[in-house]
Amino acid sequence: MTRKAARNAADYPLPMPIGLSRKAVYEIGNDAADLFGMGSSGMPPDEALEQLEEIVARLGGDIIRLGFAELTAQEMRVGSIEIHSEEEFDIYLLDEVGMGPIAARETLAHELGHYILHHPLSDDGTLRANHMGEGPSQQAENEATWFAEALLLPDAALRDAAQKTNAAKVLARIFCVSEATVRNRARALDVKVS
Ligand SMILES: [Zn+2]
Repeated sequence: MTRKAARNAADYPLPMPIGLSRKAVYEIGNDAADLFGMGSSGMPPDEALEQLEEIVARLGGDIIRLGFAELTAQEMRVGSIEIHSEEEFDIYLLDEVGMGPIAARETLAHELGHYILHHPLSDDGTLRANHMGEGPSQQAENEATWFAEALLLPDAALRDAAQKTNAAKVLARIFCVSEATVRNRARALDVKVS
C-alpha cells in the first residue's frame, strides 16, 4: 500500500485564501511562468498540454483522467486536486473525450494555483480543492484562477503578442487557451483586444 492510499483525502482541509489582490496573485503567476518556461508557444494544443503535464510531473503530481462512466462515483473529483504532501499530489480531469487539451491546460493551471498558493498554508501539509468553494473557499478558487491566467498568459509575453495582433481569437490560438481566458486576462491588464 502506498503512503497516499493510507490516508483519506476526503478529510483533507479545503484551501484557505491567501488574501492577496488579483494584481499580487498575477505577480506570483508571472514568476511561476518564468520559472517553468511558459509563454506564447504557438505549438499545437496537444503539445502545449504535454508541456504542462511535464511541469506537473516534475512537481510530483499525477494526472488521473476519468471517463463519463466513472463520474457517478468520482463526480466530486473531476477538475480537482488532492495534495498529500509537497512532493505528492493527484489532479483529476475528465478524459480526452470530455475535456479537450485547452480546457485540460486551463484546469491544470488552476489546480497548480492551489498547489503553489494554498498548499503552503495547510497546517498538516494536505489539501483538497474541487471548485465547490463556499465563503473563504470561493475566494481561494478565484485566486487559483488568477494564478492560472498569469501562468498561461504571462504579462510580458501577452503584451508582446498583442502588439502584433489584438485579435482575441488569434491570441487564444498562440497561447493555447480559450478566448474567454484571453479576454479576462487582457481586461485585467488593460491590454486592448478585439
Ligand atoms: Zn479550484
